[in-house]
Amino acid sequence: MENNHFHTIVIGAGPAGLTAGIYLSRAKMKTLVLDSGIAGGQLILTHEVANYPGIEKISGYALSENMRKQALKFGCEMLSGISIATIDFESTMKSLSLTNGKKFTADTIILATGGRSRTLNVANEDFFKGRGISYCATCDGDFFQDKEIAVVGGGNTALEEAVSLTKYASKVTLIHMLDHFQAFAHAQEEAMNNPKISFMMNSRITSFNGVDKLESVNIENLLTHEQTEMKLDGVFVFIGYEANTDFVQGKCIRLNDRKEIITDEKLQTNVPGVFAAGDAIDKKYRQITTAVSDGTIAALNAIEFINTRKSLQANHANSLIV
Ligand SMILES: Cc1cc2nc3c(=O)[nH]c(=O)nc-3n(C[C@H](O)[C@H](O)[C@H](O)COP(=O)(O)OP(=O)(O)OC[C@H]3O[C@@H](n4cnc5c(N)ncnc54)[C@H](O)[C@@H]3O)c2cc1C
Repeated sequence: MENNHFHTIVIGAGPAGLTAGIYLSRAKMKTLVLDSGIAGGQLILTHEVANYPGIEKISGYALSENMRKQALKFGCEMLSGISIATIDFESTMKSLSLTNGKKFTADTIILATGGRSRTLNVANEDFFKGRGISYCATCDGDFFQDKEIAVVGGGNTALEEAVSLTKYASKVTLIHMLDHFQAFAHAQEEAMNNPKISFMMNSRITSFNGVDKLESVNIENLLTHEQTEMKLDGVFVFIGYEANTDFVQGKCIRLNDRKEIITDEKLQTNVPGVFAAGDAIDKKYRQITTAVSDGTIAALNAIEFINTRKSLQANHANSLIV
C-alpha cells in the first residue's frame, strides 16, 4: 500500500473523529485524521466535563488530549491546521488534496466535522465562553445551582431549556428580540406558567461584563433604545446551531434543510464508503457521549465495508481463475 493511501481518512478530530481513529487504528486499519484546527474540537472550549461516564470531572482539554494520545498510540496518523482543496467522494477510490499540495487516497471517508452554536456576536462574548456564557444546558446547567441566569432566544430550544434550567437556577430571565416567541404553544405555556421565569421581550444583550467571570450584561430595549445593566451569574444562548458542512455543500453528500449530513443506521451517507459521525449529522442530541458513540459505529461500519469489498474482489478474482 502506498504511503499516501489509507483505509480510512477521518475529517475532523473532535470526540467523534478521534474515537473513529482509535477504533480504526486498533483494528490495524491505516488511518489518517485531518483537522482544520487542533485536535479536540468543541472539547477544547469546554472548561469542565462532568457528564462523561466513568470520569467524575475532567477539563475538556485533558479529555481530548487523552483521546488524541490513545489514537496515536494505536498508530493513527494525524494532521492539524489543514485546509481541504479538493475532494472526490464518488469514485471507488476516494481522494482528496490539501491546499499545501499534499494528496491522499482512501477506501473510505468518515466526515466528523462537528458544528457550532450560533453566537450573539456581542462584545466580550468570546472571553466569557465557559466563564458564565454557555450554549448547552445539559452540559453546564448544574454549575448554576441557586444562581440568577438569563436565556437568550425565542424558539423551542430556548423555551424548553429555560424551563429545564429552573431545576438549578433561582431565577431565569428569558431575553428575546421580538415581541413574540417562535416556539410551539405548549413550550410557551410551560415557560409562562413557571414562577422562576420572567420575560424581557424586544430586548437584546449589547455587552457581557465582568473581570474573570461573567458578572453582568448590558441590555438594550429595542423599542425605546434604553440601556440597562443586569447582574447575572450566567447566560445561556440558544439562537440556533450550524453544522460544519460548508465544504461538502454542492457535492454529492445529501444534507437536510439545516445542512446536517443525512446518514442511515450504519452512519453511512448516501455515497457508498462515505460515513459521517458526531454533531455534523442529522440528530437530536449533541453530546460527547453521542459523538464518541457515532465515531465507534462509523468506524466499525467502515471496517466492515472495506472487508466486504475485499472479499468480493477476492471471490471475483477466484472466479476468473476457475
Ligand atoms: C462550550 C461547550 C461546552 C460543552 N460541554 C459539554 C459537556 O460538558 N458534556 C457534553 O457531553 N458535551 C458538551 N458539549 C458538546 C460537545 O463538545 C460536542 O457534542 C462534541 O464535541 C461533538 O463532537 P464532534 O467530534 O462531533 O465535533 P466537534 O467537537 O465539533 O469537532 C469537530 C472537529 O472538526 C474540525 N473541522 C471542522 N470543519 C473541518 C473541515 N472542513 N476540515 C477539517 N476539519 C474540520 C473542527 O476543527 C473540530 O476539531 C459542549 C460544547 C461546547 C461548545
